[in-house]
Formats: sequence, C-alpha cells, structure tokens
Amino acid sequence: MTENVNTENKKTKLKSQFVELDDNPKDTRCLLCENIFILPTNEKDFLTHIFTEHRLVIGDVNKIASLKSYVNYWRVKFRDEPLTKFCTTFLGDCTPDGKASKNENYFLLSDCIAEDKTLRSELRREKLEWILEEQLRERSDKSFQRGCMFCRTEFSESRILYVKHLSEKHNIQLGKTENLVLIDQLLDQIENKIESLICIYCEKEFKDRAVLKEHMRKKLHKRINPNNKSYDKFYINNYLEPNCTWREKQSQIEETEDPSGFSSDNEEENWSDWNSENVDVNCLFCQTIKNDFNDILHHMKEDHGFDFDLITRNYNFYQRVKIVNYARKQMHVKRCIFCDGHFEQLTEHITRENHYKLPAKEIWDQPEFYFPMYENDSFLYNLDSNCNEDEDSSSEICQ
Ligand SMILES: [Zn+2]
Ligand SMILES: [Zn+2]
Ligand SMILES: [Zn+2]
Ligand SMILES: [Zn+2]
Ligand SMILES: [Zn+2]
Repeated sequence: MTENVNTENKKTKLKSQFVELDDNPKDTRCLLCENIFILPTNEKDFLTHIFTEHRLVIGDVNKIASLKSYVNYWRVKFRDEPLTKFCTTFLGDCTPDGKASKNENYFLLSDCIAEDKTLRSELRREKLEWILEEQLRERSDKSFQRGCMFCRTEFSESRILYVKHLSEKHNIQLGKTENLVLIDQLLDQIENKIESLICIYCEKEFKDRAVLKEHMRKKLHKRINPNNKSYDKFYINNYLEPNCTWREKQSQIEETEDPSGFSSDNEEENWSDWNSENVDVNCLFCQTIKNDFNDILHHMKEDHGFDFDLITRNYNFYQRVKIVNYARKQMHVKRCIFCDGHFEQLTEHITRENHYKLPAKEIWDQPEFYFPMYENDSFLYNLDSNCNEDEDSSSEICQ
C-alpha cells in the first residue's frame, strides 16, 4: 500500500482506508507488529502493549479523534521508516516491566512533529464533518419509533419530540436539542441506566424503581452525569477543537452559557419561543431589527445590496448557517466581511468600498462557523423555513 496524506493542503481529506470515524469496536493491528487489538474497546491493553513491547508512548492519546485511524495511518508509515524519524526519544529510569534501570530509551509519538499534528487536526475535522452529517441524517429520518422510558407514551418520526417530552413531562434535561447527536444511542444508554435502577446523575444504584424515581426527583438528579465521558459523543460541541480561538471568544461573550451545553430551564423556555411565528430578527450588518424574516432580508437587499437568498442559493442549510455566523463574527470584531480589514467605522468602509459581499468560500466554510456567535440568533432559526431546497432535513432543528 502506498497511502499518503497530503500534509500541505489542510483541505485534503484523508484517504478513506485509514479513517474509521465511528466508535464501533474494530480489529486494529498494532502500528509496529502483527498483534491485533479491538479499538477503542481495548485501548488500555493496546497502550500497555506498545509501551512494554515497543517502548512507545502516544502523547495526549485521549485527544485523538479516532485512535483506530491514527494507528492505521502510522502503521503504514512505520513500515518503511524507522521510529526515530517521527518520534522524540526520552530517557526513563525503569525497564518496560518496571525494573529500576537508569537511562532506558523510550519513544514518544506526539503532535510535536508537524505530520502528527496535521493528522490529528485532520481527524478532528473529519470527525466533526461526519458527526454533523450524522445529525442531519437522524433529523430527517422519519423511521424513528420509541416508547417513553418513563410513561411509555409512543413517539414516532421525531427524536426531538421525544427529547422534548422527556424535558417537559419528566423534567429530564439532556441539553439543547441542536447540540444533540446519536440520539438513539444516548436514549439507549439512559434507558439502560434507569432499567438497572441507576441514577443517571450520581450513578448510585437503588433497590427498586420507586426509590430511584423518588431519589432523582428529590435530589434533582434529572440530568446525565457531566463527568461521565461516555456521554461526550452525544454533544456536537465536544467535537470542536478544544483550543479554537473563536470558540474562546464566543464563550467570553456568553458567560452565562454552561460549556457542557446543558441548558437551564430558562434557556429551555427561550428555546420554545422560537416556535412562535414572529420573533425579532437582527440585520447581519447594522442595528436594524424587524419582526419578520422576509422584512429583514428585504432591508439587507435594499439598504446593503446584500441579497441573502440570491447569494446563498447554491449552498445547503449548514453552509448558510456558516455564512450567518461568519458575518456575525466579522461584524463583532469590526472586520470587513469581504476584505477582512479592521475598521473602527466599519459600516462606512463596507458601504464606501461596496464590500457587502462574501469572500472566498474557504474563508467562511469552516467548521467553527457551525456554531452561533450569539445565543438565540433568530436569523439562524429562520433559515430553513426560508430555503427552497428539496431536502427538509433541517426542519426539526428549530423545533
Ligand atoms: Zn505491537
Ligand atoms: Zn413519558
Ligand atoms: Zn442521583
Ligand atoms: Zn442593515
Ligand atoms: Zn472591506
């Protein structure tokens, strides 16, 4: 095999042979020998093996978006090149089996080298793209059928309705619906806990269902344990680059927001407001607020020469989301949406230069712009109702 990753161009997708973005257990061959490990299930055994057999340590292994793919990639590399080409060596003072011994040689594979860093960021990006596709798919899938785990009410077609029912009828708060993904698995996991008489928050076991119910109600243990990492994959925000500067900026703006994505009751109320027909919508470029989305589009077209529908007609729902969030971010940091120049009198500049237009697609079509600049940006929740594409896959996002 001669697979290779183009490290120059960040846009290049990794060769699909390497990439296993789901978390399904998979036989994976060690990157240095023919031993096979089931990843991610037996990750610990695998890490122990590469340490004791190959004196190899992988840095920040828990931050790798897909260990299976990471191992597949390096396995091919190590076939032709020595470890020392890609690893830093360090000295330990014991042998791999724990005997004291000075200056034992070990290898560290980490993002200290550019190729590893690129691989990690590519895997993260592809995983984010994959999970967003997954979310879109499950929201448009109408085959959903499930009885409420508490009252057995039957739900069909919409997972979001089920989640809202848990919140409204049983006060189980799973976080903002637009942040949820792999909902079937999440519900399975919660239902298993409840069936095993285990509280979903403190994870203590109870003797019968009535006592468990009473405990969860009295202690307000109505949300999942935020320290249980196995829930992370059900929240889109956990797929984002942890140190993305734009996200940091955003969280400074939204200081009230719980970083785990769990919503308070208050937010939940705000959210349901979006069901009402007319909500104030802010112009992307000025302080103008209209009560109707079409009015704001009309204003943007007439006053700024920015025909949103026309400009975004060839883009899908998520791309339009990105365009809105990109424009919001640029205006917030006082940078021109088109030329990225920084101006204190930004509106004056954009108007004078006629820069009410989109820059090259690579600039705004970036994963970080999937996420709203402002909490409850009603512009975003109007996008799907206004789009004329065939797929109605996004229609449940604003429920
Ligand atoms: Zn091995
Ligand atoms: Zn119910
Ligand atoms: Zn509890
Ligand atoms: Zn305006
Ligand atoms: Zn400009």
